[in-house]
Amino acid sequence: METEKTDVVIVGTGASGLFAALHVPRDKKMLMITKDDVENSDSFLAQGGICVLHDENDYDSFMEDTLKAGHYENRRESVDIMIRSSRRIIDELVGYGVDFARKADGSFDYTREGCHSRPRILFHKDITGKEITSRLLAAVRELPNVTICDYTTMVDILADGNTCLGILAREKDGAYRAIEAGNTILASGGIGGLYDHSTNFPHLTGDALAIAMRHGIALENIDYVQIHPTSLYSSRPGRSFLISESVRGEGAK
Ligand SMILES: Cc1cc2nc3c(=O)[nH]c(=O)nc-3n(C[C@H](O)[C@H](O)[C@H](O)COP(=O)(O)OP(=O)(O)OC[C@H]3O[C@@H](n4cnc5c(N)ncnc54)[C@H](O)[C@@H]3O)c2cc1C
Repeated sequence: METEKTDVVIVGTGASGLFAALHVPRDKKMLMITKDDVENSDSFLAQGGICVLHDENDYDSFMEDTLKAGHYENRRESVDIMIRSSRRIIDELVGYGVDFARKADGSFDYTREGCHSRPRILFHKDITGKEITSRLLAAVRELPNVTICDYTTMVDILADGNTCLGILAREKDGAYRAIEAGNTILASGGIGGLYDHSTNFPHLTGDALAIAMRHGIALENIDYVQIHPTSLYSSRPGRSFLISESVRGEGAK
């Protein structure tokens, strides 16, 4: 079996993997892999939008809304990071060309989603995920230090005791690749594809999480799965079309 070396390997080409790639120093050689087509991630499916802190006066209410939605089991410091960094990240996304809806005067237009006590969501039509993720992908594709391999699945982690040395991957034709890396980033999404009826891509089965568990890597709050209560009914297994959360956020029952 072929063994190759890279500085950083990223498993997943959704928003999290792409955003991570954009923050790795440019002198690092990076390999990104994905199980399916590069654009087939839940990030491309996200519809309603992305929440952002209005200003300092909004902090307590944003925190309370988020904790309430998480049954107060959220890790408070993670929520704090999410809220505090939200405005900077929106600015960064706008820098990558993301076109959020704006009012006639040029200021951002906000909509409302479930559990938010006020409109706090930036959006692009009802395809916010596609707008954000395709811009991130375009920016990553410009980086000379990144190689993206589609239809390549992580099947194990290479480890020496407690040290992660990289990953073992399987290509479309069944060939295995041992990829040694100084840093391994799992940005492999959720487990929604395990359900017969789901709004998620069926290949998102949480296998990378299972591999992590097998290696004794601690996972947190993995029993929390966001259930979309509104989708178009389909009698066949596979992905169902989501009726956007913003429809409920704006008051639909
Ligand atoms: C229909 C829908 C609408 C949504 N709307 C919103 C919304 O409005 N606002 C919001 O904030 N969130 C929304 N979400 C949730 C949001 O899309 C996800 O939380 C987010 O996209 C997760 O990003 P990610 O990068 O972590 O994972 P994903 O985008 O799912 O990417 C996972 C990546 O990992 C790869 N991968 C997984 N396992 C392996 C493996 N073993 N080997 C190789 N590659 C692997 C996959 O191929 C994929 O590239 C929505 C989700 C859905 C399904």
